[in-house]
Amino acid sequence: MPLQSEKMMPAYSLNDVVALARHANMSSTYKPALLKALAAVCSRSPSRRVGLAAIGKEFTRMYWNQTVVFHLRQAATIGKEPEVSRRIRRVAKQYQARFYSEVPPSAQLALESEIAHVLKIDVLRRFHASKPAGMSPLFDWEAGADVVELSDAAVAFIVENRSAIEVIANYWWALYLEKVNVLAPAIIDKVRREGARRTRVRKFLAILGAAGESRCFYCERDLRAETEVQVDHVIPWSYLLADPTWDLVLACRSCNAAKSDWLPDRSYIDKLAGSNTLREKLGVPAYSGPPPIEPSSLHRLYDAALAVEWPGCWSP
Ligand SMILES: [Zn+2]
Repeated sequence: MPLQSEKMMPAYSLNDVVALARHANMSSTYKPALLKALAAVCSRSPSRRVGLAAIGKEFTRMYWNQTVVFHLRQAATIGKEPEVSRRIRRVAKQYQARFYSEVPPSAQLALESEIAHVLKIDVLRRFHASKPAGMSPLFDWEAGADVVELSDAAVAFIVENRSAIEVIANYWWALYLEKVNVLAPAIIDKVRREGARRTRVRKFLAILGAAGESRCFYCERDLRAETEVQVDHVIPWSYLLADPTWDLVLACRSCNAAKSDWLPDRSYIDKLAGSNTLREKLGVPAYSGPPPIEPSSLHRLYDAALAVEWPGCWSP
């Protein structure tokens, strides 16, 4: 009786996924992360059985970016941070790694399998806890199993709607992060990003040179004899996610490398404000992007970054 079996087929709609996102209880960001990971893994290799190892790998990549590169909090207080972020932070510290690719492959595997294990504890079980009444679960999971099982209809739905599901997951995730990271800019962009790609800032060398800048902003070494002059973001790029000219200075290679994505000592914020005033006076062209910033706004940004516990205060 084909009609009846058609009736039994689980049905999915994007509205149901939105309703699930709206009504879910949130004490962390695991639910949107799971939705996003499932969409990614399932579209890459559509299958009714999705291994937790693959989901764990996807989880690790996403949380690494948000935790280590963008320093976003995943819970209201650092002390209550989710297990996944805590484990990632530990590995980042152990290997002094800023990007996930800097972690040795064997340690990556170990971390990913630890995180797959965290999924088993209660993430999978809780995911559908607040699903709308008519919605079929996207997956089934048996306690202890290393795979989640999907119906053919669920696989087809996820593959067909991957982009829309990802947008819903990003929005859901960002909505929560906005509550717990009130002072962090560009949250949606940071959640959406696949990696920490950034634009080349070498093109700014000429602009800074035109302002007569020729010393390392931090150690004041004369850069005219150096073979490698670099452009540094005083307030870290990974905090602003932008390259406004008012934030850029020349730095020697060793200062740039040592500062990494740390905030500098506060005295450099005053120094930066001074440089910007001078650049304006000199009429340095190409203040690309946002207009030059007031000294008081620079300090407010600096304070905001410190308030979200961005690493600081570096000096050479
Ligand atoms: Zn230097």
